[in-house]
Amino acid sequence: MSTRLLLHICCGPCSITTLQTLQDQGHDVTGLFYNPNIHPLTEYVKRRDGCLQVAERFGINVIVKDDEYRPQEWFRAVAHRENNRCFHCYAGRLERTAQIARRGNFDFFTSTLLYSKHQKHDDIAALGRDLATSKTRFLYHDFREGWSEGIETSKEWGIYRQQYCGCLYSENERHQRELRRS
Ligand code: SF4
Repeated sequence: MSTRLLLHICCGPCSITTLQTLQDQGHDVTGLFYNPNIHPLTEYVKRRDGCLQVAERFGINVIVKDDEYRPQEWFRAVAHRENNRCFHCYAGRLERTAQIARRGNFDFFTSTLLYSKHQKHDDIAALGRDLATSKTRFLYHDFREGWSEGIETSKEWGIYRQQYCGCLYSENERHQRELRRS
């Protein structure tokens, strides 16, 4: 019998090989798009739509939390701890994922954040384990093994590929060089 799994999805490209792996493992996957860390709103919409395009290909439903897209709250959560902001950013998203998974009686929850080679993988895994309960467990898998294939497939399928992690800080860091040049 397949198990019900709630997958937190950060964007389309990160979900491709992650979904393939989870479906190959026999999980009945529902997606969750909850990412108040993506700025600005136009960027959020591009990533959300990319997520939905991939979900359609895999035939899964996605819970989209547009009504909880409140960057103000995200900025408050990382204020004065910007140097450690990623930890708090992961925590907020994983806490909400675990909460929705518990309320929905899912057997497991996990996140596409475990796919990215740019994220702090061990912190994400530790947070997920801390949030697990005996009924709603955290599924750990090193989805980074599908990194290259995910990139290639996202290009082939024409899925929107972002140029920075998500928050304004990461966008700023990415373009710092241009600022110095000018
Ligand atoms: S860099 Fe990425 S993970 Fe870190 S706080 Fe910004 S959006 Fe979140």
